[in-house]
Amino acid sequence: MTIDQFNFAGKKAFVRVDFNVPLDENFNITDDTRMRAALPTLKKILADGGSVIIGSHLGRPKGVTEKYSLKHILKHLNELLGIEVQFANDCMGEEAAAKAAALQPGEALLLENLRFYAEEEGKPRGLADDATDEEKAAAKKAVKESQKEFTKKLASYADCYVNDAFGTAHRAHASTALIAQYFDKDHKMFGYLMEKEVKAVDKVLNDIHRPFTAIMGGSKVSSKIEIIENLLNKVDNLIITGGMTYTFTKAQGGKIGLSICEDDKLDLALELMQKAKEKGVNLVLATDAKIADSFSNDANTKFCKVNEIPDGWEGLDIGPESEKAFAEVIKGSKTILWNGPTGVFEFENFTHGSRAVGEAIVEATKNGAFSLVGGGDSVACVNKFGLASGVSYVSTGGGALLEAIEGKVLPGIAAINE
Ligand code: AMP
Repeated sequence: MTIDQFNFAGKKAFVRVDFNVPLDENFNITDDTRMRAALPTLKKILADGGSVIIGSHLGRPKGVTEKYSLKHILKHLNELLGIEVQFANDCMGEEAAAKAAALQPGEALLLENLRFYAEEEGKPRGLADDATDEEKAAAKKAVKESQKEFTKKLASYADCYVNDAFGTAHRAHASTALIAQYFDKDHKMFGYLMEKEVKAVDKVLNDIHRPFTAIMGGSKVSSKIEIIENLLNKVDNLIITGGMTYTFTKAQGGKIGLSICEDDKLDLALELMQKAKEKGVNLVLATDAKIADSFSNDANTKFCKVNEIPDGWEGLDIGPESEKAFAEVIKGSKTILWNGPTGVFEFENFTHGSRAVGEAIVEATKNGAFSLVGGGDSVACVNKFGLASGVSYVSTGGGALLEAIEGKVLPGIAAINE
């Protein structure tokens, strides 16, 4: 079932959203992107004459925690939806059930943070540090048991289930995946945001227009191994950049000074290079670097060859020669995936490479390429440089997007498709 096919008139929808927004110390929302992202789905259901029961998590509470109460976001939700949303102080219990039952067409109910209950994640809480393996196993079994009741209860509030929380799609939690089993195929669906995310991932992994270029940046090879390995089966060009550069450079005998490096991953770097060769993938690494004499925005800087970094200096961004080489590859591409900056973009003086990559992607997109940017810091980059509107799609999912690119089946997606 798709959200556009379903007629919500007179129906109650349980909508799992990702309202896990950042709050300041006075509980003001500092970035409401995630809330805005769910609006099309919520508005569509309400406009159809349906009612919505909104479920979300906020933060990582280990029980009921005032700081993580979703009541802090209620006022802003009212403003965004243009209606008075009701609130249930507890996502379980009489009040939530009664309020859900009494919802009229066009009305909305926000449930308190689902993660106030350990059953949402299905992980035991409050175990003593010295708990034995048996105790741990028993606690796990107990929470899995009570998770069934919890999930069933959430499902009982509604006639249909809509998952619009891509940010948690890689988690098999009660409200993100398990709940789907209580609805048949005709009564469960993705929300608009999920639909867009799923489509974007599908375009880069399965519906590839070539050449396909992936730009993987960031700090550590170890955190990107699975992604790189999966991408080696898909891409024509793989640009590996950011802090990972120096592990590859050192592995080839280069001098990297104080640059970030994983010494236990040198063999892996060589293996990945060999694999790329075998698979006919053009692996592109930086040839020059912008180096600094300390890890700071105010450090002295100069450019040098990536494998000739003097002692006491470290590479904090790519140099102009690499920028040019990367941009050329990117501009010749028809499918582009970008994850991770080329340097320490948090420091203004080391943003140039990431900006150049972003601008090349925008140009390629103008020329008809499909570009997907996602997985944390590259999203921060395109926003910082004002380039978000020039790429095809900016993913809202950090870990979820990365797991999808690793080729994993996301439980939140599988639960709807089953
Ligand atoms: P990740 O979370 O793995 O995507 O890495 C993102 C982080 O990598 C950012 O915080 C960057 O500052 C950092 N990073 C990128 N290039 C470098 C570099 N050359 N040296 C140190 N850190 C880097």
